[in-house]
Amino acid sequence: MPQSVVRTRFAPSPTGYLHIGGVRTALFNWLFARRHGGAFILRIDDTDAERNVDAALEPILSGLRWLGIDWDEGPGVGGPHAPYFQSQRADRHKAAVARLLATGHAYRDFARPEELDAERKAAQAEGKAFLYSRRFAAFDEETAARFRAEGRQGVVRLKMPREGALVIDDAVRGRVEFAWEREQDHVIQRADGSCLYHLASVVDDHDLEISHVIRAEEHLSNTPRQAFIALSLSYPLPAYAHLPLVAEPGSRTKLSKRKLAQYLKNADFKQVMDHGQRIADRLGLKAEADTFNPVIVDFYRAVGYLPWAIDNYLALLGWSYDDKTEFFSREQLIDRFTLERINSSPASFDPKKLWAVQDHYMHALPIDEKLATMLPFLTRAGLLADPAPAAAVETVRQVIEASGDRLKVAGDIIAYADFFLVDDPPLDEAAVQQRLSKPGVRPLLEAFAAELHTVEPYAPPALEEALKRVVEAAGVKVGDLVHAVRVAVTGKTVGPGLYDCLAILGRDRSLTRIARALPRCG
Ligand code: GLU
Repeated sequence: MPQSVVRTRFAPSPTGYLHIGGVRTALFNWLFARRHGGAFILRIDDTDAERNVDAALEPILSGLRWLGIDWDEGPGVGGPHAPYFQSQRADRHKAAVARLLATGHAYRDFARPEELDAERKAAQAEGKAFLYSRRFAAFDEETAARFRAEGRQGVVRLKMPREGALVIDDAVRGRVEFAWEREQDHVIQRADGSCLYHLASVVDDHDLEISHVIRAEEHLSNTPRQAFIALSLSYPLPAYAHLPLVAEPGSRTKLSKRKLAQYLKNADFKQVMDHGQRIADRLGLKAEADTFNPVIVDFYRAVGYLPWAIDNYLALLGWSYDDKTEFFSREQLIDRFTLERINSSPASFDPKKLWAVQDHYMHALPIDEKLATMLPFLTRAGLLADPAPAAAVETVRQVIEASGDRLKVAGDIIAYADFFLVDDPPLDEAAVQQRLSKPGVRPLLEAFAAELHTVEPYAPPALEEALKRVVEAAGVKVGDLVHAVRVAVTGKTVGPGLYDCLAILGRDRSLTRIARALPRCG
C-alpha cells in the first residue's frame, strides 16, 4: 500500500441507535478520506453483540445514509477486504493470537480468578499498582499441559513490556507518552477460543489497510495495548487522531443518551425536545420514545431537521476552519477539513447552536426542496393521501411560501398546513375562549363575512383592506378582528399570516368556516 493512500474507518458496534457523538466521529473520518481522495470504510464491531445484529445495525446504516456519509467499503456495498463484520473475521484473529504466542509476545495463562484476585488485593494492601506475577503463565506446551492436568483453563494474555514507554504522535494531541508499567497483561483470547475486542480491532485495521485511526478520545487509553499488538505482529502503526469528547451542554462530561432527564433542565435542550415532541405527537411516534432523544440522530430525522444542518453543526464540534466561518457546503467542508484544526478540549453539544444552523439551512432551501422534504410529513401525519393529489400539493406549496421562516424543521408543516387539508378542522377550545367568546365578536365576524362576499381580487392586499374597513366602521382594534377571524377559519392561533390563510382557503371555504364559528361567538 503506498503511504499516500488514505483509508479511514468508522467502526460502530451494533447498538440499535446512532449517537450524535458517533456521527461526529464518522463525519471526521469521512471528511478526511474525501479530502485526500481516499476510502472511507464502515466496519461493524459486532464481536460482543448479543442481540440481533441486523436489527441493531439498521438505525446506524440508515442514519449515516440519511446524513450523506457514504462509505466506499462495508455493509451493503462490499469491497475487496470483505467481510466487514468483525464477527466473521474470527479466523484472522485466531491466526494473529497464534503468531503472538509463537513469537513470545503472548502467553497462555492458567491463573484462576481467585488467584488473580489475591494478587490484586495484596498489591492494594501494599499501596502498589497491581502487576500480575505471571505465576501461572505457560510459554510452552509442556507447562500448559501441567496446568491443564490440574483442571485449569487457559486464556491468552499479552506479555506487555514493563519498562520504558510508548510514544505516539497523535494528530490532535501531539506527542503522547504511555509508560508501559501502567499496562496490564491484557487478555486477548478467552478459554473458549474467542478473541477479545482489542486484538480483533488491531487485526481488522491492519487487514483493511487503515492508514488513519480517527476516533473518540475515550479510546486513547486503549492505544498502548493496541500498538503493542500491532508492533508485535510487525504491522506498521496507523496514524492516530483522538477526537475531543462530545460533551454535555455546558460541561466537560461525555454526552449520554441515558441522561436525558438531566439535560432537560437546560432550557435550550428542553425547547428542542418539546418542539420535537409536539411533532412526534402528531406523527404518533410515542412508542419509539427510547430513541426519541436529541442525543440520538433518529430524533432529528423524525422531526425533520435537514441532514446537512446536522453535518455542518457536528463538523464544528471540535473542529474549526478559521474561528469564524460557521456555514460550509459539502464541497467546502471536504476542501477545508484538516486534522490539524481539530481542538483537543471537549466540545460541548449546544442545542441552540444546532437550532441556529438548522434555521440557516431551512431559510436557504429552495421552495421545491422544501416541498419535497415536507410532503412526507403530511402523509405520515395522515393529512395527505399517497400519492398526494396535485391540488393538495399546490396548497402545501402556498402554505410553505406563506409561512416563510416560521417553518423551522420539516415537521412544522403539520401544524401550519393541517387546517387547509381537512374540511372541518377542530376549534381549539382555549382559542375559542380567548378570541371568539368575547361579547361583540359575532357582529364583527358577520360584517367581515359580508365584505368577503364581494372583495376583489380575493388576495391578501384586498383582504387586508376589507378587514380594515370593518374595523374602522366598528371602531375596534385591528387585532380584535384579526385574531377572531384566524380562530374562526383555522381553528387555532398559530399559522401563516391571516390574509395568506384566507387567500389559500379561497372565498367559499373561508365563508363556510366563519359561518361555522358564529354560534361560538359572543
Ligand atoms: N467499536 C468501537 C466503538 O464503537 C470502535 C473503537 C475504535 O474506533 O477503535 O467505540
